[in-house]
Amino acid sequence: MNPNNTETNPPSAAEAAPAAAPLTDATHDPALRSWVASANVPGADFPIQNLPLGRFRPPADEGPGHADGADTLRVGVAIGDQVLDLKLAAQQCPWPEEIYPLLAPLAAGDLAAFMALGRPAWRALRAALSAALAEGSDQGPFLELCLRPRAGLRMAMPCTVRDYTDFYVGIHHATNIGRLLRPDNPLLPNYKWVPIGYHGRASSVGLGGPVRRPHGQQRPNPEAPPVYGPCQRLDYEMELALWVGVGNELGRPVPIEKAEEHLFGVSLLNDWSARDLQAWEYQPLGPFLAKSFATSVSPWVVSFEALAPFRRPLLRPGGDPAPLPYLHSAANHSHGSFSMTLEVWLQTAAMRSAGQGPVRLSQANAAEAAYWTPAQLLAHHTSNGCNLATGDLFGTGTLSGPGPGQGGSLMELSQGGREALQLPVGEQRRYLHDGDTVILRAFCEAPGAVRIGLGQLSGTVLPA
Ligand code: CA
Repeated sequence: MNPNNTETNPPSAAEAAPAAAPLTDATHDPALRSWVASANVPGADFPIQNLPLGRFRPPADEGPGHADGADTLRVGVAIGDQVLDLKLAAQQCPWPEEIYPLLAPLAAGDLAAFMALGRPAWRALRAALSAALAEGSDQGPFLELCLRPRAGLRMAMPCTVRDYTDFYVGIHHATNIGRLLRPDNPLLPNYKWVPIGYHGRASSVGLGGPVRRPHGQQRPNPEAPPVYGPCQRLDYEMELALWVGVGNELGRPVPIEKAEEHLFGVSLLNDWSARDLQAWEYQPLGPFLAKSFATSVSPWVVSFEALAPFRRPLLRPGGDPAPLPYLHSAANHSHGSFSMTLEVWLQTAAMRSAGQGPVRLSQANAAEAAYWTPAQLLAHHTSNGCNLATGDLFGTGTLSGPGPGQGGSLMELSQGGREALQLPVGEQRRYLHDGDTVILRAFCEAPGAVRIGLGQLSGTVLPA
């Protein structure tokens, strides 16, 4: 394979020439087209420049040995409106010899084992998939037989979530929420120094779909004792999921220069939140049952390689403190952030009945929203020696923009429930009602690059 693909940031040159890192390669060429025609449609989420990986269950009618069960999970690559089944692709298509060891865990349905192989393997497979799916590839006639329509495919979690940490990198979200709680002192003094986070609950992380409104303890009347009952202020949070590919040993912090070598890719994440439970329980230790009833992630994991054309410098307003040395590197400063548009859409049960499609509630850009980069989060998380492993999941925190219509939660859009949002069929919302479907979408656009998307993450509220 291309030897340049294994060299990201020579230590001796890292400080002197951060821009020397090979951010893009032939797989990002905007002229590249796929023999899968739907991948070439402008605006497609999954053009050949993207190549996200995910897991799915093959249809049950494929015959003996294909019954439902964890052992039948397959790994696929989303390409246009199709999915390339990597079990079939490994069996039925010739590949360069060095690619077979990389395909082996994927053909076995074990995405985590591939995530553990590290960046040189990830880049080598991406190059091989790009070549195989490109127009004119000799492998096309073999791989045509390994495609499945993406619509209707039953997706599974990319891997077992080993541990889950939710950060709080959205500075406008932190400010908006802080203003509702503490009008005179919205942003706490630690915010610009230390990436804030809490240890979340891995057991209730799943794909989108139905989410049951939780019960919990709340205190709607501050003059009366608390009560236990269904959540009345159910909310979503628009976040990104960061998947850890390569872990670190207990007691061995990962320096920020190496942090991205541990990060495999990104998905969408909805941190469902019960605001009434949260308001009563959060002091002094932070979120607990207000968050742990459900967290949803989207099934396709977009690699950091695919995001290369959309990297941005880390933006800090003038006068803000420089990151402490363990959270600073020249590369992180010059291109550690990512420009990505995130959106929340809502469709209520009444809208569905009236044939009314989802309406967009908000839109924000991740580079503008996030005060800390993925590399800074991983470096900080391990800075005390905490060990991460393959399948660890980070939530970024709610990625709200600075302006109106850019809040990544209903709590922000409704000013803490004070101002109702007007919906198309005469409805109003302050918080979510039963039957509401929340849809998260995200995509990246930049001059000279082909747009890529993360797909979507959709979840519907069920009654308590
Ligand atoms: Ca959150």
